[in-house]
This record gives sequence, structure tokens and C-alpha cells, in this order.
Amino acid sequence: MEVIIHRGMRQIGGCVTEVRTAETRLIIDFGSDLPAEDGTFPEEPLLLEGVNWGAPGYDAVLFSHYHADHVGRIQEILPGVPCYMGSITKEVLRILKRWLKSDDLPYIEQASTFTPLQPFFVGDIKITPIPADHSAYDAYMFLLEAAGQKILHTGDFRLHGFRGPSTESIITRYVGSVDLLITEGTLLGRSAAPLSEFAVQEQMKELLCQYRYVFVLCSSTNIDRLAMVCNNTPRGRYFVCDSYQREIFALIRERSKSRYYGFHKALVYGENLALDRGFVMPVRKGPFFKAVMEKYVERPEALLIYSMWDGYLAGRDLELLDFVKPFMDLGKMEFVHSSGHASLEDIKRLVEWTRPRQVLPIHTEAPEALEGVGAELISLPDGGVLSL
Ligand SMILES: [Zn+2]
Ligand SMILES: [Zn+2]
Repeated sequence: MEVIIHRGMRQIGGCVTEVRTAETRLIIDFGSDLPAEDGTFPEEPLLLEGVNWGAPGYDAVLFSHYHADHVGRIQEILPGVPCYMGSITKEVLRILKRWLKSDDLPYIEQASTFTPLQPFFVGDIKITPIPADHSAYDAYMFLLEAAGQKILHTGDFRLHGFRGPSTESIITRYVGSVDLLITEGTLLGRSAAPLSEFAVQEQMKELLCQYRYVFVLCSSTNIDRLAMVCNNTPRGRYFVCDSYQREIFALIRERSKSRYYGFHKALVYGENLALDRGFVMPVRKGPFFKAVMEKYVERPEALLIYSMWDGYLAGRDLELLDFVKPFMDLGKMEFVHSSGHASLEDIKRLVEWTRPRQVLPIHTEAPEALEGVGAELISLPDGGVLSL
């Protein structure tokens, strides 16, 4: 097998990986580039012959999860190149695109879906989707096997979330040792290790009990975080969201079959709710929630919990900064968050479990931090070819 990182050896997000044999060519993820610290985009969007220009030349594009930096350019993929994604990923994107009135909906509808842990073939490459713990609900690593060789592509993952503890047994049972580990390295080069989602829960619980009117600024698709907030809403308080968020919750309830993801308390915001008794409300930037929050910002028992990456506030998202400003200016904003990405320790553990000969870090600005991880560290220019 051969591997080409078309983009992503030296950037976070927008990574595009090619894996090929003599007869099969496939791509993993085709998403949008993320803005750099100053809010600008560093390069021209990737043009890849056979994927988004020219004649169709690939057998598949696999999407690891629904975050825009992985799936955000699906609408550019040439008709005739089949796309694959998880079935809940497809449903989430369907809801999202419908609410955004996006023209991309037909591209989502055309995608085929796969089943966790059920191998399928594209040409002579056997693909097994391995469920991953991430801040997206239906996220996967891909095990790729051909010509007696094995590659594990992690997509985005972590081990410090609620689903982290089950990862070792899944990897041991379904992956085993591999020749090449292509791993995300988002947090490499950042010094502090992320909090566990269990520690986030403790902080969240305390604040939810302490304040009567709590707004939680969180991605609408960070399902594990939202389920935790919903399940820890104190008795007697409402858990209130908007209709779009409620639709996402209904989907997850139906598909997960777990009580933890029941969102049974979730009510839709409306004037008929007696909100004076107190509430917890997941919010997103925009005029709808801004208007609701304005009504409460002056009240002594109101709080905004900022539960996203704080880098957005450091110049990368000025609208978001404007959205949180009224609470921030009054000192009524608390940060409670943990990353959806792997720490250096997480990657070291994955290396122990999969014993790769070679490690190729992508989705990172500091690949050299994996030096000495216990396998040969591969560095390629974007577009360079690694032959296994
Ligand atoms: Zn990503
Ligand atoms: Zn992601």
C-alpha cells in the first residue's frame, strides 16, 4: 500500500489522506481548512484531480465524522466518486443542512453508510470502521488492510472522554498490531494535558447547582457534553433548547437506545415556560439566543458557561466574542471545557496497543513532538508518497 497526505502534515483541520494499492485509490476526509490564529486561511483550497476536478479517478471517499474540517467540502466531490460515512453522521448532517437551507443536502443524501466494526471492501482494500471517542458523536478510525499490510487512520480521537475507557478493548480485539499508524496530533505542542470529561462533569455539576439561569455555549453536535449537561440539570429546573437542537437530541435518542442519551428533560424554548423557576439552556451564537440571554444578563443568578475551545475567542471568531461579551464584561462567564482531541499520553497508549512500525502524524502543527514515541516517525511534504 502507498499513502499520500495531500494536506495536513503541518496544519490542524482540512486533512486529506490518500491510501492506494495497484488497483484501488481511496481518500479519507475532504473537509474545510480551519482559520489560522489571525483568522486568515493559509493556503488555496486543495484541488485534487479525480476528486474535485477532472474526470472521477478514485474508488471512494471515506468520512471519519461530521465536523466541517473533515466533511466540509463533500459538495465538491465529482459525481461518480462514491462517498461513505457513518449512518448517524449522515442523519446529523441532513438535519444540519436542512436547518441551514444548504445546497449541499443532495450530496449528503447520495452518501453510502457503513456499520461500526463491520468490514467492507472498496476494490482490494478491506475497511473496518472502528468507533472513536471524540467531540463528534459518530466518529471513526479506519483500519485499512490490503496485500498483507495494515494501516490504522485515527481520524480525530481522544481517550479522556466518556467513551475512552472502552477503546483499549476495541483496539485490541478489532485492530491488533499494524504496520502504519496515521494519527491526529492536534494537541501536540500544547503543554497542558486536557481534563478528562469526568472532571469537566464535576465542574459543570457544581455551577449548575450554584446558579439559577445557566446558559451553556456548546457545539450543537457535541453530544456527549450536552447529554452530560442535560443529565446533571438539577431537579426542578428546566433543560431548554431550540427546535433544531431538539431534533438532534431526538435523533440521538432514537439511534443510541441508551438512557444516557435520552434527553428526556429537553424542552423547546417558548414564552409559555415559567422560566423563573430556573433553567439550563444550551446556546449558540446568533440573534435568537442573544435576545434570550439579554433578558437575563443583569440578574444576579445568571451565568454563561463557555464550553468550547477558548481559541475561538482569541481573534478567530469575532462574532462569538461579540456574543459572549455582555456576560464576559460583567464577570459572569466561566470556562468549562475539555478537548475532543488526543493528548500525547493518549497517542502513546494507542502506539502501545497497535505496535506500529511507523507513525505518521497529521492534523497537527507539531509533528516532531512524537519523536521517541516507540516507532519510526514519518515526515512527508504535503503530496509526498510513503510506500509501505
Ligand atoms: Zn478535525
Ligand atoms: Zn473533529
